[in-house]
Amino acid sequence: MKTFDIAIDGPSGAGKSTVARLLAEKLGILYLDTGALYRAVGLKAMRCGWSENDEEVAKQLKSTDISVKTVGGEQRVYLDGEDVSRAIRENRVSDYGSRFSALPSVRAVLLGVQRRIAAERSTVLDGRDIGTCVLPDAEYKFYLTASVETRAKRRYDELTARGEDVSFERVKADIEERDERDMTRAIAPLKKAEDAIEINSDDMTAEQVAERMLGYIVK
Ligand code: C5P
Repeated sequence: MKTFDIAIDGPSGAGKSTVARLLAEKLGILYLDTGALYRAVGLKAMRCGWSENDEEVAKQLKSTDISVKTVGGEQRVYLDGEDVSRAIRENRVSDYGSRFSALPSVRAVLLGVQRRIAAERSTVLDGRDIGTCVLPDAEYKFYLTASVETRAKRRYDELTARGEDVSFERVKADIEERDERDMTRAIAPLKKAEDAIEINSDDMTAEQVAERMLGYIVK
């Protein structure tokens, strides 16, 4: 059977994961949240007190197992056999995920994980470097953006709904810092693939963005 992949890249809070999940549901294909993999590495780094030394991290990664499973339509992420799907969403883990994602050893390990999953069946992947590095030949590529105000508001609502005690200003500053780091790192920085379709989600609901994307997808 012919499979196809959809890459959705963009900065934090642009709505990638909500849209990717909707799109996968509408098309009956798999959804892979690749940020969750980086967050799982970040969680381990935080828990074990890793320093950002690539050689050291490469060694630690040899005895680290990160995997995903889709249970009842939801992606679950496992770190060394433990379901960490909830723990990786904490705000402080975001920072670790972003910092350790800049290391070559981390990107190399997770590149393999992502490609293996996408090779098995049609998949919507959301991340930062899907269209540029992970799957440069993906059939469909989108670059989803929104203003920093909109993105910070979305992330703030998400965190407070989960009961985290954060201020809007803090969330906005964190997002700006992460975007800067993601866009300027040496390996696989966040950028729009030349052949990606750019969509700004400022004045659109996730449903509207998903419908717009569906319009490009030939079934
Ligand atoms: O998308 P999310 O905020 O969950 O991603 C967490 C972090 O993982 C990002 O800040 C980014 O640094 C990193 N990431 C990445 N490449 C991806 C997905 C996420 O570097 N494909």
